[in-house]
Amino acid sequence: MTEFLVRGRYVLSMAGLPAPAERVRTPGAHLDGVLTDAAVHVRDGAIVAVDGYAALVAAQAHLPVHGDGTGLVIPGLISTHTHLSESLATGMGSELSLFEWADAIVAPLGMVLTREDAAEGTALRAIEMLLSGVTTVNDMFCHTNIGSRASLGVVDGLTRAGMRGVVAYGAEDLPLLERSTLAPGDVIDDVLAEQHDLAAHAATAPLLDFRYGVGTLLGQSDELLAAGVEECRRAGWGVHTHLAEVREEVTTARHRWGHRTVEHSLRAGLFERPLIAGHGVWLTEADIATFARHGAAIAHNPVANMILASGVCPVPRLRAAGVPVGIGTDGAASNDSQDMLQAVKAAALLQKVHHLDALVVDALDVLTMATIDGARALGLDHLVGSLEPGKRADIVLLQDTVDVAVLHDPVAQLVYGASPRSVRDVWVDGVQVVADHRCTTVDEATQIARCRPLADRVGVKAGLVATGHSVVTG
Ligand SMILES: [Zn+2]
Repeated sequence: MTEFLVRGRYVLSMAGLPAPAERVRTPGAHLDGVLTDAAVHVRDGAIVAVDGYAALVAAQAHLPVHGDGTGLVIPGLISTHTHLSESLATGMGSELSLFEWADAIVAPLGMVLTREDAAEGTALRAIEMLLSGVTTVNDMFCHTNIGSRASLGVVDGLTRAGMRGVVAYGAEDLPLLERSTLAPGDVIDDVLAEQHDLAAHAATAPLLDFRYGVGTLLGQSDELLAAGVEECRRAGWGVHTHLAEVREEVTTARHRWGHRTVEHSLRAGLFERPLIAGHGVWLTEADIATFARHGAAIAHNPVANMILASGVCPVPRLRAAGVPVGIGTDGAASNDSQDMLQAVKAAALLQKVHHLDALVVDALDVLTMATIDGARALGLDHLVGSLEPGKRADIVLLQDTVDVAVLHDPVAQLVYGASPRSVRDVWVDGVQVVADHRCTTVDEATQIARCRPLADRVGVKAGLVATGHSVVTG
């Protein structure tokens, strides 16, 4: 039995918060619910109490205590959208817009990825995620290396790192059929077989769930989309996809089908499944109503939206309509990191400057999105997303650095001032995976050494050196 306390000068439980439409947005109002000189009591992977430190330690004087009472204790952050398939391909293509970037970087990369690349790259990025406070990640591994079963490596990597997550294979058949002589039916059969193999592999990992991945609607034939929806109905799977990311997506969809991608998803049956869609930038009021009516969620990726010049997600309108909106980093190739604290800060800044209104989205809004609303978006809010008795112990302690030294407003300081160097300790399911600012499950130096040659090989084999996007020598 493992039992301990995590102590902070402030505990941000993220429990019992009002709905977005009922929130009062005045300076200081978001400090309601912050516990001062408090602690979280953990036993056997679960939270048993959140209370003042003095009361907890009086009742449990024998327990080990993490934290010296100067730091911030928060629920583990939830990155609701990324692509661990891009783990070894950062720093390229940031001068391109989405469609150009997908053609130049992601498509050739996806053809050469192996299960080893996936497992090692995932473990590498898991270090980056954990050190920025992420304990749960919603991944979509995208590749077209048919027969490789590369996506299964994500399960191996996340399990090694001790992270909670939802895994998906972001399949697309049209780009593959363009580049090969494979028969369309054979490709669909292989895609569905990999989905089943990934679901089965995830089922062996206690901290992992599976969703059916639809890379993009435009990347799938109508036959694969229909077959996938049917498979989801049969197996009871939820869906992870992209929707309304860029204007080109909307116009191309209207040329192909006569309607937008959200409308096409509705007709195809995707909204009948538990659905989370990355981006939701180019949404009409009718699209937002469709999300609200079906309880579907949006994963907002502000850094990727800015780097690819995609646009600004209507976050305030989505939240006012009751749509669960989480925050994601998006893939390591369109960010170009997995630093969740950076994404949380960007989520607030982008809305403020877009609306020219400093209160349109505040620090508590984005922290809510990165915790309990992200959990809701993934259907995991009964387990994680807030520090409450009965939930699993996914906890982050930030302490020791200049970033969190001055805490007049702990919520604002966390959102606007904290960086990964402040993340001192992290627990997932009660197991400590970061201790004293170092990842304990994956050794950082060893993992970097393992991944360098893999990244070089991928750069050469995918032709990214030949096209001038990479200067590695292989
Ligand atoms: Zn994405």
